[in-house]
Amino acid sequence: MDFALNDEQRMMIDTVRRFIRDELQPLEQRVEDEGRLDDDTAHSIIERSRAVGLYALNMPAALGGGGLGAVDSMLCEEQFGHTTDILVRRAFGNVYDALLACEGEQVDRWVRPAIAGTRTCGLAITETGAGSDAQSIKTHAERTPSGWVLNGAKHFISDAGWSDFFLVSARTGDNAISLFAVDKGLPGFTLGKDQSMMGLRGTTHYELFFDDVPLEPMALIGGEGEGFKLAMGMLGRVRLALVGARAVGKASHVLELMTDYAKDRRQFGQRIGDFQLIQQMLADSAMEINAARLMVLHTAWMIDAGLDARDWISMVKVQASETLGRVVDRAVQVFGGMGFCKELPIERYYRDARVYRIFDGTSEIHRGIVARGLLKRGAELFDLHR
Ligand SMILES: Cc1cc2nc3c(=O)[nH]c(=O)nc-3n(C[C@H](O)[C@H](O)[C@H](O)COP(=O)(O)OP(=O)(O)OC[C@H]3O[C@@H](n4cnc5c(N)ncnc54)[C@H](O)[C@@H]3O)c2cc1C
Repeated sequence: MDFALNDEQRMMIDTVRRFIRDELQPLEQRVEDEGRLDDDTAHSIIERSRAVGLYALNMPAALGGGGLGAVDSMLCEEQFGHTTDILVRRAFGNVYDALLACEGEQVDRWVRPAIAGTRTCGLAITETGAGSDAQSIKTHAERTPSGWVLNGAKHFISDAGWSDFFLVSARTGDNAISLFAVDKGLPGFTLGKDQSMMGLRGTTHYELFFDDVPLEPMALIGGEGEGFKLAMGMLGRVRLALVGARAVGKASHVLELMTDYAKDRRQFGQRIGDFQLIQQMLADSAMEINAARLMVLHTAWMIDAGLDARDWISMVKVQASETLGRVVDRAVQVFGGMGFCKELPIERYYRDARVYRIFDGTSEIHRGIVARGLLKRGAELFDLHR
């Protein structure tokens, strides 16, 4: 394991960093104020990101993606954390790994357009009665002579307003959960309300309703009964990227702001950064961020090496999201009243960070996975040198 960056990785990180600084960060406040990103700006971001080769970096090069391995993806994802969720989605795409289970005609219908940024994919697993317990879904698909018919409902579906199709989990038998690609616009498929959230302004989180939605046979992705495994496998990598690496990036961004403020702000005739209590908040943040960063990279390295990283991903999910929570809380404290005031973005970072401990599996669920892993396989499960 060598975490020293090579020249190529440095260039890649610099390109992403520049793109975020020049193209995305200037849009953040507008999105916050307006609560949305207009379609023209969204399309132009996608175009510009594609032009510099930054769209769908995690997808295979043979299909038009960036072809990055897990470590390189996480290096980029950490940089993505330096801006807001909606801008990252538009600029870099949300092309879920499960799409790679597509075969034959499915590839042209759903995978290539997603990688090209011409069609966007949403992920619909959660239901009002099935959150953490994702296997208790009620949405179901019945086989018909012409394919499938889908019934049920989902909620909290990120980016549903913008998405052109969804990967939807549905029961296809008593014990089988399957994954279907469901195009927006199919008869019987409607969007409910956009569920207003505490943060992540600019994104939408819709309810989806399926009322006798007819699906072609090819809508089934990865085989009947494979849906839960596919969704969880996909979420594993999504968790490491979207929650692990991005949380590290967000926390680093906030630490930069805190440090600058501690150097500039003066009280009692000195910089607040000269007070030891402020120094403790800065030092603790730096230490915790780097611990989480190393865990993200180690886990990504395990994935690239073909090792089973599932329990590690759970550990990273908790560590990175809770580190972010502590860092943004300290940032509000270091900024004092200005940390609470909407004239600076600190209060927004604080609100946006909270959901990291909830989505893609709550801290409690992932702590359970870590503990059960330990009890079943022993403490060497998390021994770096085993
Ligand atoms: C902003 C946002 C975006 C989202 N985007 C999507 C999306 O795009 N697609 C999608 O499918 N879903 C999405 N979700 C749903 C998200 O994944 C769920 O909210 C999450 O999995 C938790 O489920 P829940 O909200 O039903 O909470 P519940 O499962 O009801 O949990 C409530 C509490 O009980 C605890 N709990 C539950 N089970 C256990 C247990 N076994 N042991 C200990 N404690 C337990 C939980 O940790 C939590 O504290 C999104 C949610 C949010 C808030």
